[in-house]
Amino acid sequence: MFGLIGHLTSLEHAQSVAKELGYPEYADQGLDFWCSAPPQIVDDITVTSVTGQKIWGKYVESCFLPEMLATRRIKAATRKIINAMAHAQKHGINITALGGFSSIIFENFNLNQIQQVRNVTLEFERFTTGNTHTAYIICRQVEQASAKLGIELSKAAIAVCGATGDIGSAICRWLSDRTDVADLYLIARNQERLQELQAELGRGKMMGLEEALPQADIVVWVASMPKGVEIDPLVLKQPCLLIDGGYPKNLATQIQCSGVHVLNGGIVEHSLDIDWKIMRIVNMDVPARQLFACFAESMLLEFENWYTNFSWGRNRITVEKMDQIGQVSVKHGFRPLLV
Ligand code: NDP
Repeated sequence: MFGLIGHLTSLEHAQSVAKELGYPEYADQGLDFWCSAPPQIVDDITVTSVTGQKIWGKYVESCFLPEMLATRRIKAATRKIINAMAHAQKHGINITALGGFSSIIFENFNLNQIQQVRNVTLEFERFTTGNTHTAYIICRQVEQASAKLGIELSKAAIAVCGATGDIGSAICRWLSDRTDVADLYLIARNQERLQELQAELGRGKMMGLEEALPQADIVVWVASMPKGVEIDPLVLKQPCLLIDGGYPKNLATQIQCSGVHVLNGGIVEHSLDIDWKIMRIVNMDVPARQLFACFAESMLLEFENWYTNFSWGRNRITVEKMDQIGQVSVKHGFRPLLV
């Protein structure tokens, strides 16, 4: 059995869907109330591969909200993740994806040091961040969507916002290794980590966002920001492809500019309907078929019986592992979202 640990994007979002999630008493409550909510299994899932194989899974709502980080309720945030992991393990789930901020919190606050959660000794090999599949899917989105828009990678500049992150660094490795992209702009706040990445890649220009945006043909957004940034679409090139892989979204602006194309990053579409209700709650356009690539990774590991933490730790994703997960992604009928 596979599992997914997820969370909602904001307090407002949580309040609006509390009823559907099975928490009617939370609909009018503030952040403190959510801080004390225990994890819950809120969905049972059946997925059928295009090969005909069927697997079963569960969705664990951690009750974490990004506002907990923004208001420095760190203890509540970390407790949410570790409790959700223990909950998944207690329910016999073999491989669980840590969606959205779950893996970021796990890494940033060294939660691998907390192995004992009440009577549960966490077995970390039962969890995956799902980031290898997410990075693979975003790279395929870059390649396929740019071709559709007539942007030639060999003449294009790609800006990666969040380049030094787990997903961002994997994307930069793939773009450097597997494409002939003309320019790569590396964006993040910590300059030392940017220098290390640049040295590893042997290429890439370190840039600030404001400098990069007017020069980029493609912008890949994979920064771990609790709130999206406002950008002025008029500073962008036309055509320009913006692939927003953040959860919550990195882009706060609703862009309506004919030459600027925004794509939901790190989202896959399955070839067959999935039996679940949770993707309606996170506002997917086609909730029966579309999902986060990190969640799909735990499904792929279950389909293949790869009971291992396929994606784990930080900045260790190789192009070979992206290929490996990419092959089984295609085999089971997942494809990158392109519209
Ligand atoms: P990491 O924490 O590993 O990396 C985050 C990156 O963002 C770092 O390079 C960090 O560098 C940079 N960053 C953070 N804040 C800012 C800022 N204000 N301006 C510029 N750069 C910034 O995160 P992950 O790689 O694990 O995840 C990245 C995003 O992808 C998250 O939003 C996450 O929720 C989302 N995600 C999406 C999935 C999907 O299936 N679609 C799956 C998993 C994650 P620095 O701190 O130096 O600025």
